Amino acid sequence: MTPAGKYETTIGLEVHVQLATQSKIFCGCSTRFGSSPNSQACPVCLGFPGALPVMNKEALGFAIKVGVALGCEIAGRMKFDRKHYYYPDLPKNFQISQYDLPLAAEGSLELFGDGQRRVIRIKRVHLEEDAGKLIHAEKGDASLVDFNRSGMPLLEVVSEPDITSPEEAYEYLTEVKSILRYLDVSDCNMEEGSLRCDANISIRKTGAKSLGVKTELKNMNTFRGVKIALQYEIDRQKAVLEEGGKIIQETRLWNEAKARTFLMRTKEEAFDYRYFPEPDLVPFLIDRETVESIKASLPELPQKRYERFVENYKLQPALASIIVNERDLADFFEESAKGYPRNVQLIANWITGDIQGELNKRKLSMASLGLKPEAFADMLKLIDEGVITGKIAKGLLVDMIETGSMPRELVKSLGLSQITDKGALEAVMEKVIKNNPKPVEDYKNGKTNVITFLVGQVMRETKGKANPKIINEMLRERMGKL
Ligand SMILES: [Zn+2]
Repeated sequence: MTPAGKYETTIGLEVHVQLATQSKIFCGCSTRFGSSPNSQACPVCLGFPGALPVMNKEALGFAIKVGVALGCEIAGRMKFDRKHYYYPDLPKNFQISQYDLPLAAEGSLELFGDGQRRVIRIKRVHLEEDAGKLIHAEKGDASLVDFNRSGMPLLEVVSEPDITSPEEAYEYLTEVKSILRYLDVSDCNMEEGSLRCDANISIRKTGAKSLGVKTELKNMNTFRGVKIALQYEIDRQKAVLEEGGKIIQETRLWNEAKARTFLMRTKEEAFDYRYFPEPDLVPFLIDRETVESIKASLPELPQKRYERFVENYKLQPALASIIVNERDLADFFEESAKGYPRNVQLIANWITGDIQGELNKRKLSMASLGLKPEAFADMLKLIDEGVITGKIAKGLLVDMIETGSMPRELVKSLGLSQITDKGALEAVMEKVIKNNPKPVEDYKNGKTNVITFLVGQVMRETKGKANPKIINEMLRERMGKL
Protein backbone atom coordinates (compact mmCIF):
# COMPACT_ATOMS: atom_id res chain seq x y z
CA MET A 1 0.00 0.00 0.00
CA THR A 2 1.23 3.44 -0.91
CA PRO A 3 0.77 5.83 2.00
CA ALA A 4 -1.33 8.82 1.02
CA GLY A 5 0.74 11.83 0.05
CA LYS A 6 3.98 9.91 -0.40
CA TYR A 7 4.31 11.18 -3.96
CA GLU A 8 3.55 14.46 -5.65
CA THR A 9 2.59 14.88 -9.26
CA THR A 10 3.97 17.30 -11.85
CA ILE A 11 2.10 17.85 -15.10
CA GLY A 12 2.78 20.10 -18.07
CA LEU A 13 0.31 20.32 -20.95
CA GLU A 14 0.81 21.02 -24.64
CA VAL A 15 -2.42 22.11 -26.24
CA HIS A 16 -2.70 22.20 -30.03
CA VAL A 17 -5.51 24.35 -31.28
CA GLN A 18 -6.62 24.65 -34.86
CA LEU A 19 -7.15 28.30 -35.66
CA ALA A 20 -10.46 29.12 -37.34
CA THR A 21 -8.96 30.94 -40.33
CA GLN A 22 -10.56 30.83 -43.78
CA SER A 23 -7.49 29.33 -45.44
CA LYS A 24 -4.51 27.21 -44.42
CA ILE A 25 -1.41 28.67 -42.78
CA PHE A 26 0.91 28.82 -45.81
CA CYS A 27 -1.39 28.41 -48.84
CA GLY A 28 -4.85 29.41 -50.04
CA CYS A 29 -6.56 26.02 -49.53
CA SER A 30 -9.82 26.03 -47.59
CA THR A 31 -9.89 24.87 -43.97
CA ARG A 32 -13.49 23.64 -44.09
CA PHE A 33 -14.08 20.49 -42.04
CA GLY A 34 -15.73 17.40 -43.49
CA SER A 35 -14.99 17.82 -47.21
CA SER A 36 -14.17 14.76 -49.30
CA PRO A 37 -10.58 13.54 -48.79
CA ASN A 38 -7.81 15.36 -50.66
CA SER A 39 -10.22 17.92 -52.14
CA GLN A 40 -8.49 20.77 -50.25
CA ALA A 41 -4.82 20.41 -51.14
CA CYS A 42 -2.32 22.12 -53.42
CA PRO A 43 1.41 21.87 -54.22
CA VAL A 44 2.31 23.90 -51.10
CA CYS A 45 0.45 21.82 -48.53
CA LEU A 46 1.25 18.59 -50.40
CA GLY A 47 4.93 19.47 -50.02
CA PHE A 48 5.88 19.50 -53.72
CA PRO A 49 9.49 20.50 -54.31
CA GLY A 50 9.83 24.17 -55.13
CA ALA A 51 6.40 25.21 -53.83
CA LEU A 52 6.72 28.30 -51.64
CA PRO A 53 4.85 28.93 -48.41
CA VAL A 54 3.28 32.36 -47.76
CA MET A 55 2.31 33.35 -44.20
CA ASN A 56 -1.43 33.69 -43.52
CA LYS A 57 -1.93 37.12 -41.93
CA GLU A 58 -5.19 36.12 -40.25
CA ALA A 59 -3.46 33.20 -38.50
CA LEU A 60 -0.74 35.53 -37.23
CA GLY A 61 -3.36 37.99 -35.91
CA PHE A 62 -5.25 35.20 -34.12
CA ALA A 63 -2.03 33.89 -32.59
CA ILE A 64 -1.06 37.33 -31.27
CA LYS A 65 -4.54 37.66 -29.75
CA VAL A 66 -4.06 34.40 -27.84
CA GLY A 67 -0.55 35.37 -26.74
CA VAL A 68 -1.76 38.70 -25.41
CA ALA A 69 -4.78 37.14 -23.68
CA LEU A 70 -2.47 34.68 -21.91
CA GLY A 71 -0.34 37.56 -20.67
CA CYS A 72 2.66 36.59 -22.80
CA GLU A 73 5.48 38.71 -24.11
CA ILE A 74 4.97 38.95 -27.87
CA ALA A 75 8.24 38.57 -29.74
CA GLY A 76 9.39 41.58 -31.71
CA ARG A 77 11.03 39.17 -34.12
CA MET A 78 9.93 35.60 -34.72
CA LYS A 79 10.91 32.96 -37.23
CA PHE A 80 9.83 29.59 -38.49
CA ASP A 81 11.90 26.42 -38.40
CA ARG A 82 11.79 23.04 -40.04
CA LYS A 83 11.18 20.14 -37.69
CA HIS A 84 12.29 16.98 -39.45
CA TYR A 85 10.70 13.60 -39.13
CA TYR A 86 9.48 10.90 -41.44
CA TYR A 87 5.86 9.81 -41.54
CA PRO A 88 3.49 8.91 -44.39
CA ASP A 89 1.18 11.83 -43.61
CA LEU A 90 4.06 14.31 -44.01
CA PRO A 91 5.27 14.13 -47.61
CA LYS A 92 7.96 16.81 -47.37
CA ASN A 93 9.47 15.09 -44.30
CA PHE A 94 9.48 18.23 -42.19
CA GLN A 95 6.88 20.29 -40.45
CA ILE A 96 7.12 24.06 -40.42
CA SER A 97 7.06 25.02 -36.75
CA GLN A 98 8.82 27.46 -34.43
CA TYR A 99 11.82 26.46 -32.40
CA ASP A 100 13.97 29.04 -30.63
CA LEU A 101 12.10 32.23 -31.53
CA PRO A 102 8.43 31.48 -30.85
CA LEU A 103 5.70 34.06 -31.29
CA ALA A 104 5.00 34.46 -27.58
CA ALA A 105 6.45 33.35 -24.25
CA GLU A 106 6.29 33.75 -20.48
CA GLY A 107 2.61 34.18 -19.86
CA SER A 108 0.28 32.84 -17.23
CA LEU A 109 -3.23 31.70 -16.69
CA GLU A 110 -5.15 31.90 -13.45
CA LEU A 111 -7.49 29.11 -12.42
CA PHE A 112 -10.43 30.31 -10.37
CA GLY A 113 -13.05 27.56 -10.73
CA ASP A 114 -13.34 26.36 -7.14
CA GLY A 115 -12.76 29.78 -5.63
CA GLN A 116 -9.10 28.94 -4.95
CA ARG A 117 -6.79 30.89 -7.18
CA ARG A 118 -3.82 29.13 -8.73
CA VAL A 119 -1.46 30.44 -11.38
CA ILE A 120 -0.25 28.14 -14.16
CA ARG A 121 2.65 29.68 -16.04
CA ILE A 122 2.62 29.54 -19.84
CA LYS A 123 6.03 28.70 -21.26
CA ARG A 124 5.42 29.53 -24.90
CA VAL A 125 2.85 29.93 -27.65
CA HIS A 126 3.90 29.15 -31.21
CA LEU A 127 2.49 28.67 -34.68
CA GLU A 128 2.94 25.58 -36.82
CA GLU A 129 1.32 23.64 -39.64
CA ASP A 130 -0.64 20.44 -39.15
CA ALA A 131 0.21 17.16 -40.91
CA GLY A 132 -2.19 15.07 -42.99
CA LYS A 133 -4.36 12.36 -41.55
CA LEU A 134 -3.85 8.61 -41.89
CA ILE A 135 -6.97 6.53 -42.21
CA HIS A 136 -6.46 2.85 -41.58
CA ALA A 137 -8.79 0.68 -43.66
CA GLU A 138 -10.99 -1.60 -41.58
CA LYS A 139 -10.44 -4.50 -43.97
CA GLY A 140 -7.14 -5.43 -45.56
CA ASP A 141 -3.71 -3.98 -44.87
CA ALA A 142 -4.14 -0.59 -46.52
CA SER A 143 -3.80 2.85 -44.97
CA LEU A 144 -5.07 5.94 -46.75
CA VAL A 145 -3.85 9.51 -46.45
CA ASP A 146 -6.09 12.58 -46.41
CA PHE A 147 -4.11 15.77 -47.01
CA ASN A 148 -7.03 18.12 -46.30
CA ARG A 149 -5.57 18.59 -42.83
CA SER A 150 -1.99 19.19 -43.88
CA GLY A 151 -1.09 22.85 -43.61
CA MET A 152 -3.97 23.67 -41.25
CA PRO A 153 -2.89 26.48 -38.91
CA LEU A 154 -2.12 25.22 -35.44
CA LEU A 155 -1.30 27.14 -32.33
CA GLU A 156 0.60 25.28 -29.65
CA VAL A 157 0.20 26.50 -26.09
CA VAL A 158 2.78 24.97 -23.77
CA SER A 159 2.40 25.26 -20.01
CA GLU A 160 5.18 25.09 -17.45
CA PRO A 161 4.97 21.96 -15.26
CA ASP A 162 2.82 23.80 -12.70
CA ILE A 163 -0.18 21.47 -12.76
CA THR A 164 -0.36 19.16 -9.77
CA SER A 165 -3.31 16.84 -10.38
CA PRO A 166 -5.51 15.38 -13.14
CA GLU A 167 -8.39 17.54 -11.87
CA GLU A 168 -6.27 20.67 -12.20
CA ALA A 169 -5.29 19.60 -15.73
CA TYR A 170 -8.97 19.35 -16.58
CA GLU A 171 -9.59 22.80 -15.13
CA TYR A 172 -6.67 24.26 -17.07
CA LEU A 173 -7.94 22.80 -20.34
CA THR A 174 -11.44 24.11 -19.68
CA GLU A 175 -10.02 27.56 -19.04
CA VAL A 176 -7.80 27.55 -22.16
CA LYS A 177 -10.76 26.47 -24.26
CA SER A 178 -12.96 29.12 -22.72
CA ILE A 179 -10.43 31.89 -23.48
CA LEU A 180 -9.95 30.71 -27.07
CA ARG A 181 -13.69 30.70 -27.63
CA TYR A 182 -14.05 34.17 -26.10
CA LEU A 183 -11.39 35.33 -28.55
CA ASP A 184 -13.27 33.64 -31.39
CA VAL A 185 -10.09 32.14 -32.82
CA SER A 186 -11.03 28.45 -32.68
CA ASP A 187 -14.12 26.34 -32.16
CA CYS A 188 -12.00 24.05 -29.92
CA ASN A 189 -14.01 21.05 -31.01
CA MET A 190 -12.08 18.06 -29.69
CA GLU A 191 -14.19 15.54 -31.66
CA GLU A 192 -13.28 17.24 -34.94
CA GLY A 193 -9.65 17.45 -33.86
CA SER A 194 -9.50 21.23 -33.58
CA LEU A 195 -8.19 20.90 -30.02
CA ARG A 196 -5.68 18.24 -29.07
CA CYS A 197 -3.69 17.79 -25.92
CA ASP A 198 -0.47 16.00 -25.00
CA ALA A 199 0.79 15.78 -21.45
CA ASN A 200 4.15 15.46 -19.76
CA ILE A 201 3.82 13.82 -16.40
CA SER A 202 6.15 12.73 -13.63
CA ILE A 203 5.91 11.89 -9.97
CA ARG A 204 8.47 12.32 -7.20
CA LYS A 205 8.70 11.63 -3.51
CA THR A 206 6.97 14.44 -1.65
CA GLY A 207 9.49 17.15 -0.88
CA ALA A 208 12.15 15.83 -3.30
CA LYS A 209 14.18 18.63 -4.89
CA SER A 210 14.47 17.42 -8.48
CA LEU A 211 11.62 16.34 -10.74
CA GLY A 212 11.04 12.68 -11.48
CA VAL A 213 11.55 11.20 -14.96
CA LYS A 214 8.63 12.19 -17.13
CA THR A 215 6.61 10.32 -19.70
CA GLU A 216 4.70 11.95 -22.52
CA LEU A 217 1.07 11.00 -23.04
CA LYS A 218 -0.62 11.26 -26.42
CA ASN A 219 -3.91 10.35 -28.04
CA MET A 220 -6.25 11.70 -25.40
CA ASN A 221 -9.39 12.65 -27.28
CA THR A 222 -11.67 14.20 -24.68
CA PHE A 223 -11.15 16.40 -21.60
CA ARG A 224 -12.47 13.56 -19.48
CA GLY A 225 -10.07 11.21 -21.28
CA VAL A 226 -7.16 13.50 -20.30
CA LYS A 227 -8.18 13.29 -16.65
CA ILE A 228 -8.54 9.50 -16.67
CA ALA A 229 -5.33 8.95 -18.66
CA LEU A 230 -3.31 11.14 -16.27
CA GLN A 231 -4.65 9.28 -13.25
CA TYR A 232 -3.82 5.98 -14.93
CA GLU A 233 -0.28 7.15 -15.62
CA ILE A 234 0.22 8.37 -12.04
CA ASP A 235 -0.86 4.97 -10.73
CA ARG A 236 1.35 3.15 -13.26
CA GLN A 237 4.42 5.21 -12.32
CA LYS A 238 3.76 4.70 -8.61
CA ALA A 239 3.49 0.94 -9.11
CA VAL A 240 6.81 0.88 -11.03
CA LEU A 241 8.58 2.84 -8.26
CA GLU A 242 7.02 0.80 -5.46
CA GLU A 243 8.34 -2.36 -7.07
CA GLY A 244 11.82 -0.84 -7.08
CA GLY A 245 11.76 -0.13 -10.82
CA LYS A 246 12.74 3.00 -12.74
CA ILE A 247 10.58 5.27 -14.88
CA ILE A 248 11.83 5.39 -18.46
CA GLN A 249 11.49 8.58 -20.47
CA GLU A 250 9.13 7.55 -23.23
CA THR A 251 6.03 8.47 -25.19
CA ARG A 252 2.92 6.51 -24.33
CA LEU A 253 -0.39 6.32 -26.15
CA TRP A 254 -3.67 6.45 -24.27
CA ASN A 255 -6.13 3.80 -25.37
CA GLU A 256 -9.58 4.98 -24.33
CA ALA A 257 -11.35 1.66 -25.00
CA LYS A 258 -8.82 -0.34 -22.97
CA ALA A 259 -8.46 2.49 -20.41
CA ARG A 260 -4.67 2.19 -20.25
CA THR A 261 -1.51 3.64 -21.79
CA PHE A 262 0.82 1.74 -24.13
CA LEU A 263 4.44 2.36 -25.03
CA MET A 264 4.70 4.18 -28.36
CA ARG A 265 8.41 5.04 -28.51
CA THR A 266 11.25 5.92 -26.21
CA LYS A 267 11.50 9.67 -26.07
CA GLU A 268 13.35 11.49 -28.79
CA GLU A 269 15.35 14.61 -27.95
CA ALA A 270 14.99 17.94 -29.71
CA PHE A 271 18.22 17.35 -31.65
CA ASP A 272 16.65 14.26 -33.24
CA TYR A 273 14.42 16.64 -35.19
CA ARG A 274 17.41 18.50 -36.63
CA TYR A 275 15.65 21.85 -36.41
CA PHE A 276 16.91 24.57 -38.72
CA PRO A 277 15.48 27.88 -39.92
CA GLU A 278 12.87 27.66 -42.69
CA PRO A 279 14.67 29.33 -45.60
CA ASP A 280 11.46 30.02 -47.55
CA LEU A 281 9.99 32.23 -44.83
CA VAL A 282 11.91 35.28 -43.70
CA PRO A 283 11.85 36.23 -39.99
CA PHE A 284 8.80 38.32 -39.05
CA LEU A 285 8.97 41.64 -37.27
CA ILE A 286 5.96 42.37 -35.11
CA ASP A 287 5.68 46.03 -34.20
CA ARG A 288 4.47 47.24 -30.80
CA GLU A 289 1.59 49.22 -32.29
CA THR A 290 0.04 46.09 -33.77
CA VAL A 291 0.36 44.30 -30.43
CA GLU A 292 -1.10 47.27 -28.52
CA SER A 293 -4.05 47.63 -30.87
CA ILE A 294 -4.81 43.90 -30.59
CA LYS A 295 -4.55 44.20 -26.81
CA ALA A 296 -7.03 47.06 -26.85
CA SER A 297 -9.47 45.07 -28.99
CA LEU A 298 -9.68 42.04 -26.68
CA PRO A 299 -13.10 41.26 -25.22
CA GLU A 300 -13.62 40.94 -21.48
CA LEU A 301 -12.08 37.54 -20.69
CA PRO A 302 -13.66 34.79 -18.56
CA GLN A 303 -11.76 35.54 -15.36
CA LYS A 304 -12.62 39.26 -15.36
CA ARG A 305 -16.19 38.44 -16.20
CA TYR A 306 -16.33 35.92 -13.35
CA GLU A 307 -15.11 38.55 -10.90
CA ARG A 308 -17.67 41.03 -12.19
CA PHE A 309 -20.52 38.50 -11.98
CA VAL A 310 -19.67 37.65 -8.38
CA GLU A 311 -19.14 41.30 -7.45
CA ASN A 312 -21.97 43.03 -9.31
CA TYR A 313 -24.67 40.38 -9.53
CA LYS A 314 -23.69 38.71 -6.24
CA LEU A 315 -23.82 35.33 -7.98
CA GLN A 316 -22.63 32.24 -6.15
CA PRO A 317 -19.02 31.63 -7.34
CA ALA A 318 -19.79 28.06 -8.44
CA LEU A 319 -22.67 29.20 -10.67
CA ALA A 320 -20.75 32.23 -11.95
CA SER A 321 -17.82 30.07 -13.06
CA ILE A 322 -20.11 27.70 -14.98
CA ILE A 323 -21.88 30.59 -16.71
CA VAL A 324 -18.79 32.60 -17.70
CA ASN A 325 -17.14 29.48 -19.09
CA GLU A 326 -19.09 29.88 -22.35
CA ARG A 327 -19.25 33.37 -23.74
CA ASP A 328 -22.73 33.02 -25.26
CA LEU A 329 -24.08 31.60 -22.00
CA ALA A 330 -22.69 34.60 -20.11
CA ASP A 331 -24.13 36.97 -22.75
CA PHE A 332 -27.52 35.29 -22.38
CA PHE A 333 -27.33 35.73 -18.61
CA GLU A 334 -26.59 39.44 -18.89
CA GLU A 335 -29.30 40.07 -21.48
CA SER A 336 -31.85 38.17 -19.37
CA ALA A 337 -30.79 40.11 -16.27
CA LYS A 338 -31.64 43.35 -18.08
CA GLY A 339 -35.16 42.08 -18.74
CA TYR A 340 -35.57 40.56 -15.29
CA PRO A 341 -33.29 42.35 -12.82
CA ARG A 342 -35.49 41.42 -9.85
CA ASN A 343 -33.85 38.04 -9.22
CA VAL A 344 -30.66 37.31 -11.16
CA GLN A 345 -29.88 34.33 -8.95
CA LEU A 346 -33.05 32.71 -10.31
CA ILE A 347 -31.81 33.37 -13.87
CA ALA A 348 -28.50 31.68 -12.99
CA ASN A 349 -30.35 28.69 -11.56
CA TRP A 350 -32.41 28.29 -14.71
CA ILE A 351 -29.34 28.62 -16.95
CA THR A 352 -27.28 26.05 -15.07
CA GLY A 353 -30.31 23.80 -14.60
CA ASP A 354 -33.05 23.46 -17.22
CA ILE A 355 -31.37 25.48 -19.98
CA GLN A 356 -28.04 23.64 -19.66
CA GLY A 357 -30.05 20.41 -19.68
CA GLU A 358 -31.69 21.35 -22.99
CA LEU A 359 -28.31 22.32 -24.46
CA ASN A 360 -26.80 18.97 -23.49
CA LYS A 361 -29.79 17.04 -24.74
CA ARG A 362 -29.74 18.78 -28.10
CA LYS A 363 -25.94 19.04 -28.30
CA LEU A 364 -26.26 22.74 -29.08
CA SER A 365 -24.56 25.92 -27.95
CA MET A 366 -26.57 28.74 -26.39
CA ALA A 367 -26.18 30.83 -29.54
CA SER A 368 -27.73 28.11 -31.70
CA LEU A 369 -30.51 27.14 -29.28
CA GLY A 370 -32.76 29.95 -30.49
CA LEU A 371 -33.97 30.97 -27.03
CA LYS A 372 -34.20 34.75 -26.81
CA PRO A 373 -33.24 36.35 -23.49
CA GLU A 374 -36.22 38.74 -23.63
CA ALA A 375 -38.59 35.77 -24.10
CA PHE A 376 -36.97 33.97 -21.18
CA ALA A 377 -37.17 37.07 -18.97
CA ASP A 378 -40.86 37.39 -19.85
CA MET A 379 -41.41 33.75 -18.87
CA LEU A 380 -40.02 34.51 -15.41
CA LYS A 381 -42.39 37.48 -15.17
CA LEU A 382 -45.32 35.21 -15.99
CA ILE A 383 -44.46 33.12 -12.93
CA ASP A 384 -44.28 36.24 -10.76
CA GLU A 385 -47.59 37.46 -12.11
CA GLY A 386 -49.18 34.16 -11.12
CA VAL A 387 -50.17 33.40 -14.72
CA ILE A 388 -48.23 30.12 -14.77
CA THR A 389 -46.71 27.88 -12.13
CA GLY A 390 -43.00 27.14 -11.91
CA LYS A 391 -43.76 23.59 -12.99
CA ILE A 392 -45.61 24.73 -16.12
CA ALA A 393 -42.70 27.07 -16.87
CA LYS A 394 -40.38 24.08 -17.26
CA GLY A 395 -42.53 22.69 -20.06
CA LEU A 396 -43.13 26.14 -21.49
CA LEU A 397 -39.37 26.67 -21.80
CA VAL A 398 -39.14 23.60 -24.04
CA ASP A 399 -42.09 24.86 -26.13
CA MET A 400 -40.38 28.24 -26.49
CA ILE A 401 -37.17 26.57 -27.68
CA GLU A 402 -39.02 24.37 -30.14
CA THR A 403 -41.36 26.98 -31.60
CA GLY A 404 -39.37 30.19 -31.13
CA SER A 405 -42.64 31.80 -29.93
CA MET A 406 -43.02 34.28 -27.09
CA PRO A 407 -44.22 32.77 -23.81
CA ARG A 408 -47.42 34.82 -23.56
CA GLU A 409 -48.59 33.61 -26.98
CA LEU A 410 -47.87 30.01 -26.02
CA VAL A 411 -49.68 30.29 -22.68
CA LYS A 412 -52.75 31.52 -24.57
CA SER A 413 -52.62 29.03 -27.45
CA LEU A 414 -51.79 26.00 -25.29
CA GLY A 415 -54.10 26.94 -22.40
CA LEU A 416 -51.37 26.83 -19.78
CA SER A 417 -52.69 29.50 -17.43
CA GLN A 418 -52.82 28.66 -13.81
CA ILE A 419 -56.21 27.56 -12.49
CA THR A 420 -57.33 30.35 -10.23
CA ASP A 421 -60.99 29.48 -10.14
CA LYS A 422 -61.54 28.19 -6.58
CA GLY A 423 -64.58 26.19 -7.58
CA ALA A 424 -62.61 24.23 -10.16
CA LEU A 425 -59.80 23.61 -7.68
CA GLU A 426 -62.23 22.48 -5.00
CA ALA A 427 -63.73 19.87 -7.29
CA VAL A 428 -60.29 18.43 -8.00
CA MET A 429 -59.40 18.51 -4.31
CA GLU A 430 -62.55 16.59 -3.33
CA LYS A 431 -61.77 13.97 -5.96
CA VAL A 432 -58.24 13.53 -4.60
CA ILE A 433 -59.49 13.23 -1.01
CA LYS A 434 -62.06 10.64 -2.08
CA ASN A 435 -59.50 8.58 -4.02
CA ASN A 436 -56.86 8.58 -1.29
CA PRO A 437 -58.55 7.42 1.94
CA LYS A 438 -55.34 6.01 3.44
CA PRO A 439 -53.22 9.20 3.31
CA VAL A 440 -56.23 11.21 4.49
CA GLU A 441 -56.59 8.86 7.46
CA ASP A 442 -52.82 9.19 8.14
CA TYR A 443 -53.16 12.97 8.11
CA LYS A 444 -55.92 12.84 10.66
CA ASN A 445 -53.71 10.63 12.83
CA GLY A 446 -51.06 13.32 12.91
CA LYS A 447 -48.87 12.41 9.95
CA THR A 448 -49.21 15.90 8.54
CA ASN A 449 -46.40 15.45 6.04
CA VAL A 450 -48.69 13.40 3.76
CA ILE A 451 -50.04 16.79 2.69
CA THR A 452 -47.13 16.96 0.22
CA PHE A 453 -48.36 13.78 -1.41
CA LEU A 454 -51.91 15.09 -1.66
CA VAL A 455 -50.75 18.41 -3.14
CA GLY A 456 -48.80 16.38 -5.67
CA GLN A 457 -51.96 14.45 -6.59
CA VAL A 458 -53.86 17.70 -7.21
CA MET A 459 -50.96 18.97 -9.35
CA ARG A 460 -51.12 15.77 -11.36
CA GLU A 461 -54.87 16.04 -11.89
CA THR A 462 -54.49 19.62 -13.10
CA LYS A 463 -51.38 18.84 -15.20
CA GLY A 464 -49.35 21.22 -13.08
CA LYS A 465 -51.67 24.18 -13.55
CA ALA A 466 -52.77 24.48 -9.93
CA ASN A 467 -50.86 26.81 -7.66
CA PRO A 468 -49.26 24.48 -5.09
CA LYS A 469 -49.28 27.12 -2.38
CA ILE A 470 -53.01 27.74 -2.71
CA ILE A 471 -53.71 24.01 -2.89
CA ASN A 472 -51.66 23.45 0.23
CA GLU A 473 -53.70 26.04 2.13
CA MET A 474 -57.00 24.73 0.82
CA LEU A 475 -56.13 21.14 1.69
CA ARG A 476 -55.07 22.00 5.22
CA GLU A 477 -58.27 23.91 5.81
CA ARG A 478 -60.44 21.13 4.36
CA MET A 479 -58.69 18.33 6.24
CA GLY A 480 -59.00 20.21 9.48
CA LYS A 481 -62.78 19.91 9.08
CA LEU A 482 -62.80 16.19 8.33
ZN1 LIG B 1 -2.71 24.08 -50.04
